Amino acid sequence: MACVVGCTIENGTEIPLNWRIVNGHNHIKHPELPVFHFSLACNHCEDAPCMKHCPALAYTRDKKTGVIIHHAEACIGCTYCTWVCPYDAPKYNETTRIVEKCNFCVDRISEGTKPACTEACPTGALDFSFQEEVDLNNHITPGFVNVGIKPSIQLIPLRKEHTKPEIVNIDAVKIDAEYLDNYVPKPTSKIHLRKEWTLVLFTLSVSGLVAWQASGITSNVFVSPIAFFIIAIFAIVLTSFHVGKKLRMWRFILNVKGSWLSREIVGFGIFFSLGIITLFIKDNIFDFNELLPFVNSNALGYITIMFGIFTLISIDMVYSLLVRKDKFKLHSAMVWLTGLLLFAWFSDFILLIFLITLFKCVLYLMRKQALFNQKITYFPLITSIRLLVLVIPLIVLIAFPEISNSSLVILVFIGEIIDRSEFYYESDVKTPNGALTDLFRNTVKTT
Ligand code: SF4
Ligand code: SF4
Repeated sequence: MACVVGCTIENGTEIPLNWRIVNGHNHIKHPELPVFHFSLACNHCEDAPCMKHCPALAYTRDKKTGVIIHHAEACIGCTYCTWVCPYDAPKYNETTRIVEKCNFCVDRISEGTKPACTEACPTGALDFSFQEEVDLNNHITPGFVNVGIKPSIQLIPLRKEHTKPEIVNIDAVKIDAEYLDNYVPKPTSKIHLRKEWTLVLFTLSVSGLVAWQASGITSNVFVSPIAFFIIAIFAIVLTSFHVGKKLRMWRFILNVKGSWLSREIVGFGIFFSLGIITLFIKDNIFDFNELLPFVNSNALGYITIMFGIFTLISIDMVYSLLVRKDKFKLHSAMVWLTGLLLFAWFSDFILLIFLITLFKCVLYLMRKQALFNQKITYFPLITSIRLLVLVIPLIVLIAFPEISNSSLVILVFIGEIIDRSEFYYESDVKTPNGALTDLFRNTVKTT
């Protein structure tokens, strides 16, 4: 751990918020598994997703050294970079409410000195040099996640000839499957529903607003400007819970060119503004034609819908970078599908309700089947409730057409909340520690 200590002293980081981590392996000294330690911090990747996806442009690359530098004064603490970095390098600091990460001791290397971690390493396991190219193709170091973002790290493979202890009786080292969790904890996900519930409600509120507005414009359904305004403000307040530095939230819009998170916020802002204007015109609250006679208010309504759809697609793109345990890219909790379903319900479009409900049912069941096949925990009772609140409203609508839609839409919306919450529960982020734990769990022999 000398590298960790060296880094902590050099950068004055707070323990346990170490920028460098030594991932351990085989804590239980299982003779079937190798023993090694893997020291890792930021790899200053060539195609760095942290920099590409940060909405606030808080990352830059130092031209001279290639180091990816995080700028604390620009960070809004949205933690999106902690989701997209597969090396667990950016860490959220609860005290400062922003993210921080290894800067490769950029001041030291600019002056020709090595980073503190490599200088502190007593065995030469870590070193530093400038290289033109790094070849990672032959590296199979367990725990190293190679996702093609060109990390600037050269790994020296483990020795092939290392000897394993001779195992006389393999049965003696098998672990009772029932107690596996006691020996090897399940990898902990960085996405916790407990923390992300505001995002569940935010994303669904946006779907609902887009669907409502679209049905108001295409099917003349009444949309109350006051209710629209209140729900939109509610959604904005919800998303602010997820941001460490609320006064810097305006920075969300700075990276429209590269970040879907920025596009989501910009799209929602325009949709909200145009939506309110459209509703005011529709309700004759002000005479828009007098103010801007060259603008067609009907066309404005359709432009509003387009920005709404753009926002929903952006939301789904933001989450497409997460790891899905069921491995499906198209899934029932996508917000564009929720928007379409709610639109069909608001507009009383029975054929569309039927088709989307069927499609969502198939996608949902495929997802659950995939989790079941991988023996990943899911909750059959919740699954049953979710399916019931998806299907029953449709049956009631067909069997009792005199019943008002609104009570059924509430049921449908509850179903969407369950589906979306499960989506967060089933999503994960790649981390070296998670990869090592997975490897360990898959390698260890159980009875
Ligand atoms: S290791 Fe993570 S934080 Fe560092 S540059 Fe790569 S993606 Fe960004
Ligand atoms: S603004 Fe968000 S994505 Fe950018 S560095 Fe800060 S926490 Fe990471």
